Amino acid sequence: MPRTLLAVHAHPDDESSKGAATMARYADEGVRVVVVTCTGGEAGEILNPAMDQPGVLERMPELRRQELAKALEIIDVTAHHWLGYRDSGMADSETNGHPDAFANADLEEATGRLVAIIRAERPQVVLTYDERGGYPHPDHIRTHEVSVAAFEAAGDPGRFPWAGPPYQPLKLYYHATFSRERMEQIHQGAVARGIESPFAEWLERWEEEDDGFPEPVVTAQVDVAAWLGRRRDALIAHATQIDPNSFWFAIPDEVVAEVYPWEDYTLARSLVTVPDRETDLFEGIDSDGNPVT
Ligand SMILES: [Zn+2]
Repeated sequence: MPRTLLAVHAHPDDESSKGAATMARYADEGVRVVVVTCTGGEAGEILNPAMDQPGVLERMPELRRQELAKALEIIDVTAHHWLGYRDSGMADSETNGHPDAFANADLEEATGRLVAIIRAERPQVVLTYDERGGYPHPDHIRTHEVSVAAFEAAGDPGRFPWAGPPYQPLKLYYHATFSRERMEQIHQGAVARGIESPFAEWLERWEEEDDGFPEPVVTAQVDVAAWLGRRRDALIAHATQIDPNSFWFAIPDEVVAEVYPWEDYTLARSLVTVPDRETDLFEGIDSDGNPVT
């Protein structure tokens, strides 16, 4: 059984902003990498001034499919699936009410769709967002709920019998991408090298606007120093969403590789025994995809 990593994301571009370098690394190491995108990103606005041209907004769904295809190629993703819902838009926006919006999806139905994909792809490792969605977008929170429910149901022969033979993934992780610790270290690394850091203001605001949520608990750090370029290119492929001149790209990859070469994760469920701190998402799983005994 080949080693397979499956990442569930809310919109086209999320696969590039969360865990892209990890996926590129595993793809290079011969792991099958599968991405599920829950919505088409239809509610996306033009976030890159260079793309703010006549006709672009009208073609958003088509453009976002093209951008995603390009990003998946850069990351070297083996297979991609749409879950088939509509982008709900940001909280309290008009698009929230659309009947096909992911935020309004029946949880059981959406879970069944993801269970069918998990049973067909047979990943040992599943990646998704934490309880608050990584950030509070209704589709991200829904992605968390559906992923956790599908992880629990996929191995149960009594659930969704139409969705293929039962299969139980071994590990479920949450992305822990946006931690204060990470931002602070990159900020300090940049300042120490005489680079103007765009994070200073953000870190200050972070202090003031305590939203009451605890920082993610990082249990796994994957060294992606050699894959930061692929992450950058995958992000830039999302031309309507990502401004290549934005502060996200202000700190050179060489600096990031020196001061914070990791992508961070929280182990949420595991059916295999693993140490408290991991450096490999397949820890406890052998090269044939079976639990290490
Ligand atoms: Zn998103």
